[in-house]
Amino acid sequence: MRVIVIGAGLAGLAAAEELHHAGADVTVFEARDRLGGRVWSVPFAGAMAERGAEFILPHDTELLAMARRLEMPLVRKGTLYGNREPRGGEPVTREQVTTAMEELAALPELEGETVYGALTRARLESGVADAIAARLEVSCAYAADDLDASVLREGAGAFGDFDTHTFVGGNQRLARRLAGELDEPVHLSSPVRSIRWSGREMNVCTETTEASADAAVVAVPASVVDQIEFKPPLGEQKVDAHRAVRYGQAAKLFVPLRTPAPPSQTLSVPGRWWCYTQLGADRQPLRFAAAFAGSPGAIEALDVANGPGPWLDAIEQLRPDLELDRDQAMVSTWDQDPWVRGAYSARAASASILNPELSRGQGPLAFAGEHTAGRWHGLMEGAIRSGRRAARELLSR
Ligand code: FAD
Repeated sequence: MRVIVIGAGLAGLAAAEELHHAGADVTVFEARDRLGGRVWSVPFAGAMAERGAEFILPHDTELLAMARRLEMPLVRKGTLYGNREPRGGEPVTREQVTTAMEELAALPELEGETVYGALTRARLESGVADAIAARLEVSCAYAADDLDASVLREGAGAFGDFDTHTFVGGNQRLARRLAGELDEPVHLSSPVRSIRWSGREMNVCTETTEASADAAVVAVPASVVDQIEFKPPLGEQKVDAHRAVRYGQAAKLFVPLRTPAPPSQTLSVPGRWWCYTQLGADRQPLRFAAAFAGSPGAIEALDVANGPGPWLDAIEQLRPDLELDRDQAMVSTWDQDPWVRGAYSARAASASILNPELSRGQGPLAFAGEHTAGRWHGLMEGAIRSGRRAARELLSR
């Protein structure tokens, strides 16, 4: 079987690897000039900074199994992703937040309700409720007034004292490693413009090439799938499902430290962002601090579009213990990125990301991408699960 994979993020590459190992003839087209999509690791302050996906969480079982299978070592970050110290709002302890989260997760019938609705129903103290809303808005990169309350139970919003990891040398190494398993190098800088099929023949066109195949995996974000012409066109339900996907918005800031700081995690409750420090592969503190702002409102308030200045000022206020080397700061944003136009799919109450139409195949096409991964959406884990599911779908036809 000849299969074309469109998109060399983790979803497309996981699909390509699985298809290749099953004996398929695989060609991958990628729009960007690099592999990995929203996984993008760059050298920074003597280590690697993750401009996109960073944290591997304990529940990421397929990702962790893949790391073991490919013998790719992980760095223990020491950062307590799930237990951030809330600051800047009404005084609240981390213990109060953790206890309240356990109560919230036990509330019946969370699905279909917003996070704000559930917080009101639980009658929490206002400071605790605001700290939880802040934490969820940051992690889900989406405003709590349209965030489905099921995030209180699962997913990126995970709470608790668990370890977090990244790949030694950066998460993008996983993308390179998966691509390295294939016979044919990934075609970079090759945005796919059209996919046409009739009977048993399929043609995929980029601006410069045309390739034929028996089937394809479409592993591009829902936000940019309309840039590809499908002939015959995608079904109405599929198009509607793609259009309905809401994307969260996130920005990251990296700033070198004059003195390295041990792992820490501080949440700005009013600002809807957090600042963290972490360990490197040598188990010593890294020489930079990172910050992550989630939700469009937070990014606007920090005026990220005009550079790092206001955010650096805010970090100095939130974390006076950190000695920032402001001149070398680096900002990472995704809202203007033409190949995604957002950070990751959101668990919106107004448009369910659990819509089975998103992952449903059509003719010789299978669909992958974090937005098709059901409860694993928004994560590297979801991207990998979706790619492998799409590959198995084609193999079983
Ligand atoms: P993508 O990585 O977007 O890959 C899709 C690929 O398709 C891209 O390479 C794109 O260039 C390509 N493409 C698009 N259109 C075309 C076309 N027409 N032709 C050819 N190629 C095309 N996840 C975690 O697990 N932990 C985290 O800590 C975490 N933090 C994050 C922080 C940020 C700031 C962001 C942005 C994301 C974060 N994520 C995190 C989410 C994670 O990055 C994604 O869930 C995952 O990487 C998505 O993979 P994907 O393959 O579905 O999509």
